[in-house]
Amino acid sequence: MTVRDNLAAIRREIEAACARVGRDPAGVRIVAVTKYVDAERAMEVLDAGIADLGENRSDQLIEKHARIGNQATWHFIGTLQSRKVKDIIDKVDYIHSLDRLSLAKEIEKRAVRPVKCFVQVNVSGEVTKHGLAPEETIPFIEQLRAFSRIEVVGLMTMAPHTDDEAVLRACFRRLRMLKERVQALGMAHAPCTELSMGMSNDYTIAIEEGATFVRIGSALVGSL
Ligand SMILES: *Cc1c(COP(=O)(O)O)cnc(C)c1O
Repeated sequence: MTVRDNLAAIRREIEAACARVGRDPAGVRIVAVTKYVDAERAMEVLDAGIADLGENRSDQLIEKHARIGNQATWHFIGTLQSRKVKDIIDKVDYIHSLDRLSLAKEIEKRAVRPVKCFVQVNVSGEVTKHGLAPEETIPFIEQLRAFSRIEVVGLMTMAPHTDDEAVLRACFRRLRMLKERVQALGMAHAPCTELSMGMSNDYTIAIEEGATFVRIGSALVGSL
């Protein structure tokens, strides 16, 4: 399947999911996760009309950025080691995986402009997953007030590996409720209007529960 065909199918699914809950599909942004594929295939994504590319490893992001440059909006979506921040910070527009103060400090030190960050929350509580516990999230974001180069645009989560729709839905719903609590605090550094949730196998449920950024890899670009 071409990226264009896959994208057309995904857009239909997004429209249907939005219709079910009365949302405008324009409020859902597709981040094409290109971690499985090469720069060539990533270029196909751009040609198909998606400008947002996501990578979960710094070396991959650097390599693709060297080929593609600022034609794309770059999203770092994976676990970010503090020592790698300096290598990617001038290339990324969004970081989806801010989950600890040491990482925030490194971003603050290395960034030359404010970086749009999602705070990653481990809603499901699985020990293998990164992210803050839900109850740690607001105190963490309050601490970020002192950081002039971090803008908390929203919250991000990875749902558990399951096809149990009720479990997925509950996870996404909890993240949305937490996001609304942060938003209601009205902190200047944390508008927290966005929800980064949903991947190839669960993005329609995530959209029904309020996702504004869906991170789609295999369903869009395939995997090598
Ligand atoms: C790989 C990855 C995705 C995309 O996964 P697919 O199931 O292929 O859509 C989304 N988010 C993160 C953080 C990832 O690492």
